[in-house]
Amino acid sequence: MIGGSVGGLFAASLLRRAGWDATVFERTVGDLTGRGAGLGISSQLLEIMDRIGARFEPSAGVAHNSYVWMERDGEIAFVNDRATVGSSWARVYRPLRDAVPAEIYRQGMTLARVEQDAGSVAAVFEDGTRVAADLLVAADGVFSTVRRQLMPGTEPRYANYVAWRGIVEERAVRGEAAAIGDRIVFCFPPGELLLTMAVPGPGEDMRPGHRRVYFIWYRPAGAEALRDLFTDEGGRNHGISIPPPLIRPAPVAAMKADAAERLPAAVAAIVDSVPRPLLQAITDLESARMADGRVAVMGDAAFVARPHSIGGVSKAALDAQRLADSLSASGDIAPALARYEESQLDFGRRLVAHSRYLGAFLEHGSGAPPADPERTIRDYGAPNLLHDVDPARFQAKAV
Ligand SMILES: Cc1cc2nc3c(=O)[nH]c(=O)nc-3n(C[C@H](O)[C@H](O)[C@H](O)COP(=O)(O)OP(=O)(O)OC[C@H]3O[C@@H](n4cnc5c(N)ncnc54)[C@H](O)[C@@H]3O)c2cc1C
Repeated sequence: MIGGSVGGLFAASLLRRAGWDATVFERTVGDLTGRGAGLGISSQLLEIMDRIGARFEPSAGVAHNSYVWMERDGEIAFVNDRATVGSSWARVYRPLRDAVPAEIYRQGMTLARVEQDAGSVAAVFEDGTRVAADLLVAADGVFSTVRRQLMPGTEPRYANYVAWRGIVEERAVRGEAAAIGDRIVFCFPPGELLLTMAVPGPGEDMRPGHRRVYFIWYRPAGAEALRDLFTDEGGRNHGISIPPPLIRPAPVAAMKADAAERLPAAVAAIVDSVPRPLLQAITDLESARMADGRVAVMGDAAFVARPHSIGGVSKAALDAQRLADSLSASGDIAPALARYEESQLDFGRRLVAHSRYLGAFLEHGSGAPPADPERTIRDYGAPNLLHDVDPARFQAKAV
């Protein structure tokens, strides 16, 4: 496995259970638990975690009882009674990491290239180490070294809008957090989309009052606006990925001023309370292939759906499961990888297409709202592909 995030960990655990001798090589040194904040989960994700014995604690979820549309004046225009559960990166990542023995998880190993012939495949690392194997799984994320070698030109494509994200302690915005409650709140300022909700607090605390409030605000940005947003104070442009400390104060101030004008007061106050919001360019990535000889490409290395799908981690888990099951069903690697590729190409394409449909109204900067906001809310996530988690499973422990 190249990449020791969720995809590589799912693949390692599932392949080990299928009798393979698996090793994970991760570039980063240190703990990956602190990487994310809130994380949308699916019932398929929890089933696959169960299958590998990675226990998702009943206390690890924040229950959301509905998706609602809040208008500029704070009125609720639409309620979709859809119960689901959100969790956090740490509560998913930690049990996955614990399910893999420490001796097969090798950090500080950056893959430089892959070499393969009919009989074997080898991973060559930047420190010169060469490791030969029967199979190499590329779980090295959106900027995958393996994909770039095997499928040059397959790159993430900018979708013409960005997302500002921020997170604040529930305690610091008590009144505003109460206005959000246990709902996922959608706002549709002209041509834009903002979501806000409660997510786990410090120490992954899920109790009301101890949680955090999260927002993500999707805003159109053409090529010139993108260049401006992703250029630091020193005039250096960072393409489509800017380190948070380098975001200039001016675009943050402009975004907050727009929030006061365009958003309900409670939501604008949440946005305003975050001193250093993060900025992300929204992209699509689609690969034409997920297998090449003895290499299987999976997770974000193969497909990245826009965050509207709330499905990247579940997709990585499903890719890994399909890969392990195909290999178990066939002793030969070539037909197993062909079967894996056939089903997961289809899944990846459908997930990307669904997320593109949800974000289509944001792409053109026309200032127009979605044709049918209620439908956008009902279809949010990927309910056609990934199933919501039933909060009843968690409520016994909810405070
Ligand atoms: C803002 C945001 C919100 C999201 N919210 C959700 C959500 O709510 N629900 C959800 O399911 N998904 C969500 N996702 C998506 C999810 O985080 C990804 O889909 C998921 O992490 C993909 O897992 P992966 O293992 O394929 O890739 P990654 O998690 O990207 O991991 C790739 C790993 O490979 C390593 N690596 C890279 N190159 C090399 C190399 N050359 N050698 C060795 N190692 C290497 C990296 O260090 C990294 O650890 C979100 C993503 C973003 C950006």
